[in-house]
Amino acid sequence: MHFIVQTKPFKDETLESYLLRLTRDNAYADYHELADIIWQSLVECDHELEGAFPLDLKTANLYHASQSSRFRVRAFKLVAQWAALAPLELIRLSWLRSNTQFGHLTALIRDQLLIPRMLLRENYVPICSECLKEESYFPYYWHLKPYKACHKHKVQLQSHCAECGELIDYRASEQFSQCSCGAKLKTMAPASEADIAVSEGLSGADAHHWVGKLAWFAYQYGHDQEHASFNEAFISYFKHWPDNFFAELDEKVFRAREKQLRPFNHTKFDSVFGDVIKVGKVAAPNVLRSNFVVDSLLSYFSDLVEKNPKQKHPNIADLLLNSLDFATLLGTTLEQVFRLYQEGQLTCCERLNKNERLQPDRCVFYLRQVVELAQSQGRYVGDFKNQLITPW
Ligand SMILES: [Zn+2]
Ligand SMILES: [Zn+2]
Repeated sequence: MHFIVQTKPFKDETLESYLLRLTRDNAYADYHELADIIWQSLVECDHELEGAFPLDLKTANLYHASQSSRFRVRAFKLVAQWAALAPLELIRLSWLRSNTQFGHLTALIRDQLLIPRMLLRENYVPICSECLKEESYFPYYWHLKPYKACHKHKVQLQSHCAECGELIDYRASEQFSQCSCGAKLKTMAPASEADIAVSEGLSGADAHHWVGKLAWFAYQYGHDQEHASFNEAFISYFKHWPDNFFAELDEKVFRAREKQLRPFNHTKFDSVFGDVIKVGKVAAPNVLRSNFVVDSLLSYFSDLVEKNPKQKHPNIADLLLNSLDFATLLGTTLEQVFRLYQEGQLTCCERLNKNERLQPDRCVFYLRQVVELAQSQGRYVGDFKNQLITPW
């Protein structure tokens, strides 16, 4: 089998958009007809591929295939061959599930751009009619929740049909600049500076920095990324970074001192600072050592330790951290923290039995220790800030 018209994908095109253009260029009635024909041809080539090609465009993307993704990959390679594309071209256009996470958030990857899955729009995909007029295809960044304005035409993306009021989704309507009700779509409203700035970030070369930052901001402050004022709040927040973040932490320290019930060397870190370290991990993929929120936290706590030296009476720098948070601040793994403990480099506030396993969420290490250890490793001091810690 091969396609008579061999449609070429655009570099930033989505898989669904490409499949739709392949349907249209080869004069099939709709995506379902194309999928049916592909399905039959696949079974003729390889009986294992029965059912491997998606019949519904909305769930065509590879990240939707959980158990059968291996077969879908094989099917996509064959379809690429029939369309005279490089074998992995359709897989490159897809969002794939990644083993990496942003903190506890699952991630997807498309052509080297890793994003927290929470950033992807599920139910609709807004459009810029000016872009569609120039080239009839859908770029992947229109699928990202904070991408609300076209960075080329400086207009708001259109998310609702002006006639019927329904949300727009080309994967359901199979139309390019038309709603499923038949109305023509036209983007007119000028975009705000904040929306344009975020869109430029998300479509640019630094997109990998933006995605973590946006996810962290939404998560840390409970903001809805789809809310109209989200980008405005995001941009104005980071104008004052990190002073505003540090002021919030100062406030927590102030309240902890006011309401202190027991000595700080018996107080858990999270009872004062909450899950700020855990949430901070959302700002960058777990595989990276550098994470601007975690780096800022370490800088803040280093300062706190400087201001609160070890004394006879325990102070705020003697709070108790769990191993997970400890590993995050140190930019290392849980295993390394256990090893440091076993080697006697870390003092534990409780005596553990000989064979007792240290639970990751048990608060047993002093905040002061992590700062001193980080400084002794040269992670935080001066030019060495981004230097990797050598594995022990
Ligand atoms: Zn546009
Ligand atoms: Zn409509």
